[in-house]
Amino acid sequence: MDDVIVVGAGPAGNNTALGLATRGHAVTVIDWRHDIGDKLCTGLVGRECIRRFPIDPEHVLREPRSAMVMAPGAPGVLFEADTSPACIVDRVAYVASFAHRAQDAGAVYLLGQRVQQIIPQRHGVTVVTDRGTRQARALVLASGFGSPLARQAGFGSVTDYVTGVQAVVSTNGIEDVEVHLGHDVAPGFFSWLVPTRRDTALVGLLSRRKAQDHLARFIQCLQQKGKIGAAISEAKSWGIPLRPLKRTYRDRILVVGDAAGQVKPTTGGGIYYSLLVSEIAAQAMSEALSGDDLSARGLRNYQTRWQDLLGHELDVGYSARRLYEFLSDKQIGSLVQQAGANGINGELTGASDVSFDWHSRMIGNVLGHPVLGAALKMINPVLARLARPTEPETSGPVTGPVNGQVNGSNASGSPTKTQPH
Ligand SMILES: Cc1cc2nc3c(=O)[nH]c(=O)nc-3n(C[C@H](O)[C@H](O)[C@H](O)COP(=O)(O)OP(=O)(O)OC[C@H]3O[C@@H](n4cnc5c(N)ncnc54)[C@H](O)[C@@H]3O)c2cc1C
Repeated sequence: MDDVIVVGAGPAGNNTALGLATRGHAVTVIDWRHDIGDKLCTGLVGRECIRRFPIDPEHVLREPRSAMVMAPGAPGVLFEADTSPACIVDRVAYVASFAHRAQDAGAVYLLGQRVQQIIPQRHGVTVVTDRGTRQARALVLASGFGSPLARQAGFGSVTDYVTGVQAVVSTNGIEDVEVHLGHDVAPGFFSWLVPTRRDTALVGLLSRRKAQDHLARFIQCLQQKGKIGAAISEAKSWGIPLRPLKRTYRDRILVVGDAAGQVKPTTGGGIYYSLLVSEIAAQAMSEALSGDDLSARGLRNYQTRWQDLLGHELDVGYSARRLYEFLSDKQIGSLVQQAGANGINGELTGASDVSFDWHSRMIGNVLGHPVLGAALKMINPVLARLARPTEPETSGPVTGPVNGQVNGSNASGSPTKTQPH
């Protein structure tokens, strides 16, 4: 019998497997895909993620320093930083690198097998796949968005989500990232043009409805402006959770990553949070295995620790997201125009406490801004109050040494956060 079966070889599952295997536990990872990490994604990750979870430089495709934000009825506003705050990476290669390290540490990978059922039992967990049955003392569910397994195992479902849709297009060598706002383009969310390799780019958007139709129109509009050429791949779509599950542990089972809804609700970015939370999961599961207490009580630490790290960010980010969804095109255009005209774009990108991965500080800055904040509070006072971080000093970049699996951890092994300057 394995110590742990991990379902899903995305960032969450691979990094959990790595953490468990390096601690000496017998781990098997099962994924229905043959190509590890090959899930729809743009591959944009912050500098902090790369510092903490290093990447082979060959897998970094771009290091953009700026993004042009286009809003209805307003001139484009450039948000430019001195150094690139994020990288566009080869997502498949990056995610697979965690699997290779987990395999080197002893984890076994069963690819091309779909887990159909999880049966928790008194002394273990039975996993039924389309190829047979396996047993383990415990299980980590890292099966991403939309898998029925979390619900089947009694965790319920994420209560809010959005559809992401994306296509690869040809370009004649664009350099800049573009973000487009407005209800015609991506109602309540945003669309993007992200250059990747030479002469190719990703065009995508998030939308609660008709995402494919919106993308077709967005591609046509970029083509008419001569920014992109033909679509190289057909548009694919996938869900992104916007709220976490209420409970992410039970006897012998933890839920991690998109399956648990641990995603930035502002942008839908989930790679970094999945990696951070999977460190916590590996630590908590390892302690429970070593103490031979795989009861819900023995695994509760996992939820306490990840909520300490991300709970505030997810709550503030979700309220800000809902606030944004209420804005009309005129209001969005006016806010972006004011940001450009008053140099607020520079203030925001230059602020030392603004981070690509921790948005509550940025949201606090926007809501506390005399011009933007006052406008948002008038538009929706209730959501503006909910989105205003109450304890900004508790959120911030994760710190710590950068080479190794459980980096930047405090005494309990949980990732730690810096205090504001
Ligand atoms: C269009 C789009 C763009 C995105 N862009 C970004 C971005 O730029 N930056 C960012 O940080 N995040 C981005 N994300 C989100 C990011 O991709 C996810 O948050 C991240 O992949 C979550 O990792 P995970 O390991 O939890 O899940 P996943 O990466 O989804 O991995 C889950 C794995 O489980 C496997 N699986 C599922 N069910 C079963 C089963 N029954 N049996 C066996 N295996 C199973 C799947 O095959 C998959 O490999 C984007 C998402 C979308 C949709």
